[in-house]
Parts: sequence; C-alpha cells; structure tokens
Amino acid sequence: MFAALTLLLFASQAINAHPGPHAVKKSVLPKSWYHDEDHPARSLFRRQDPLPEVGSPEWVALYPTDNQNPEANIPQAWLDRLNEAIAAGRIPRITVPRFNETARLPEYGDVDVTSPEICSSTFECRADDDIWDGPDGTIGLSVDDGPHNLPEASARLYDYLAEQNQKVTHFMIGSNILLYPDMFMRAFEELQNDIAVHTWSHRMQSTLSDEAILADLGWTIQIIHDLTGGRLTRYWRPPYGDADNRVRAIAREVFGMTTVIWNADSRDWGMADDSETIQSITQRFETWVAGPRSPGLIVLEHEIHADDVDVFMAIYPLLRDSDWEVRSIAELFEDEVGWYLNAQNNQGEVVEADVGSGPDPTANSNNNGGNSGNGNGSGSGNSSRTTSGQTGTTSATIDPSDTSDSVRLTAPAAALVVVALLGNFMLA
Ligand SMILES: [Zn+2]
Repeated sequence: MFAALTLLLFASQAINAHPGPHAVKKSVLPKSWYHDEDHPARSLFRRQDPLPEVGSPEWVALYPTDNQNPEANIPQAWLDRLNEAIAAGRIPRITVPRFNETARLPEYGDVDVTSPEICSSTFECRADDDIWDGPDGTIGLSVDDGPHNLPEASARLYDYLAEQNQKVTHFMIGSNILLYPDMFMRAFEELQNDIAVHTWSHRMQSTLSDEAILADLGWTIQIIHDLTGGRLTRYWRPPYGDADNRVRAIAREVFGMTTVIWNADSRDWGMADDSETIQSITQRFETWVAGPRSPGLIVLEHEIHADDVDVFMAIYPLLRDSDWEVRSIAELFEDEVGWYLNAQNNQGEVVEADVGSGPDPTANSNNNGGNSGNGNGSGSGNSSRTTSGQTGTTSATIDPSDTSDSVRLTAPAAALVVVALLGNFMLA
C-alpha cells in the first residue's frame, strides 16, 4: 500500500498541474473523435440477456478473478481486432518501457519520451487526441479509482453529490466494480453520473504488453457495458496518467476511447503522508479559480479514502460559488458528443443495431467462461439491476483475515478484495 502511494506520488509529480497563464494554449477537443458512431468496438461487446444476478457467483465468474492479471483470459474477438489494427499500422511499434522500481516511472532507455513518436503523458507530452484541458471558463470534475464501499469513501461522496445535485465523471477500476456493484449502480442510476474506464488492474499501462493493455481496458468496458444496458464508454484515464502513443492507439483503435488526463491535480493523495493539507489544497484551488479562465480545469480527485472526500467537500463550495461552470467531464463536451459511444447519457436509448456479434465465448481457454454470454445484439435494454445475496467462493487463494478495510463483503467479494489488496495498486 505504501508502495502504491509512493508510486502515485512520483507519477503525479511528473505531470504538470494546471499550466497557468504561460502555457501554450492548445485546442481543448481532440482533433478527431475517431470512428465515432460506427466504431467497430460495437461488435466487441454483446448484450447478455439475461445477465446472471449481479453479485452472484455466476455473475462474478464472467470477469477476471485475478485483478492483476486480466490478460489470463482475452476474448478472441478483441485479439483479432488488436491484430488487425497492428497489421494496418495503426498501433505504433515503439519501445515498451521497463518499469523502474526505484523511480516508480516508465524507463524508455535512450529515446526521447516527449518525441512525437512516443509522447509519454507521464512526462507531460500531450497528444492531439488527448483531453487535458476543459473549455474556457469550465471546471470538469472527476473522481478516480472507485467504486469503494468504505462508508467514509464513495458512499459519503455520493451522499454529498446527491445533496449538491452535482455531477462528476467516475474513472472506475473494473475490478472494483466487480467488488462493489451496489456502489457502482448508485453512481450510475441514483446520481446519473457518467462512468469512464480506469483499467481493470490499475497498472502503469505503458509498461505492459499490447495484450495486457487490451485486457485491462476491454474487461473494464465489458463490466460497465453489462451493468448499464449496453453502454460503451467513450472516455478512459490511464492510472498515474501514464500513456504513450502505443497505449493511446490501443484504446482508440480497438475500443474507440479517448484518453483523458488532467490539468488540476487536487493532490488529495498527499493527505496520507501529510505532504498536503486541506489548507494547502484549498489554497491551490483558490489560486486556480482566481486565475486565467483559459484553459478550463480538468480536476483530478479520488473516491477511495476518507481524505479524498474531505478534500472534495472542502473545495467544492469554492468551485460551486465561483463564476466558473462546474460539470462532469462528459457534460463539458455533451453538445458535441454523447457521454458514451452509443448513448447520449445514462438515460434514454442505447443504439441497438450497432451492438453486434461479440466474442466467441467458447474461444477462451481458462475457467472464466469467456465473455459475457450468448446475446445476439438484440437485447431489450437494461441489464438486471438486482444485487442480492452473494454466496459461494472463488478459486483465489486468500487469507480471509486480511480484509480489515472491507465491510459488508460477501464471500466472493471478500476473496476478491484480498487479491486486490495483495496487488497493492488499488489505493493509487
Ligand atoms: Zn488511479
């Protein structure tokens, strides 16, 4: 856990905060929205009708059980699409960096990490199709790493957001959604907040193989799709803000997603080691709000610690009462594009015809049972929303005494959370 915080500290320090008045003004929207309405990602995810009862062992079994190894099981259709993109020259074959354990950073060797070929966001290189800035005069709120069921974390934040009638974008970790589907549904249904991808494993994506990136993104898209009536996520944020042109291209070319970073890091994570205080964070936001209105702010916050929520509740009134427009990130761009690739928002129509034949469930070799099922693309809309008694076990080897942080966990979820904690990236 400490390692995770250390990693986050270094990674976040490597990324600029709000660039301020001297920064070169860049276009806010990406140059191109890539294959928007007809993106072949539609064919990669199929409706399962009916979805097994959410939270049941059958439902859990649809998804990776080792949160640090989602690539153990990759639907063949995703691999096929990746390989097509590689063959077509659409995924740059650049150096895959080593993960430098000491620096906690990707290490590319003797190449320019900010060159147009690599363009590592960890080293502040912005690609044309990234989102780092909001439109002028706007503040886009995002909370990362959720959902979590610690009562002082997501639940308290959601209560506050409901009370304030404020939307935010949730960049969610797929394996956390598997653990806490109730909390996920609160964000999606009760708050009507837009949901985006923050990978399954929360690893530093640039250091991973093509296949691991594919699985990290694909499985997170899949579980969101299955719980939201077939919505396909438009936005994703790399853990630690770490992407390069290869990572971006896999997200874009295979799954149609846009990479979102930030320009206003709340540094709420710094509360844990006292490198930040409520006062220091509040002062930073006061400076930003009083500063230039161009570009707008894309704010990074989290939802997995009590500290995160304390920070949110401290700075939110300052933002709300300013003359900036405060919205979720998807709302900032909703006049141009829907919150999702195939739906305008959390309500209303999901484009039915474009969710076509999905991966062959029999193509997988291990015990996860493949992609979600046997739908044929003509599903009638919402998945089952019932979350109920969770019984049964998983095959993970765990120490059940190690769930000190978790509450109200049932057997499969408890098993998974321990795997998550052993993975130690969950709090970054
Ligand atoms: Zn994160």
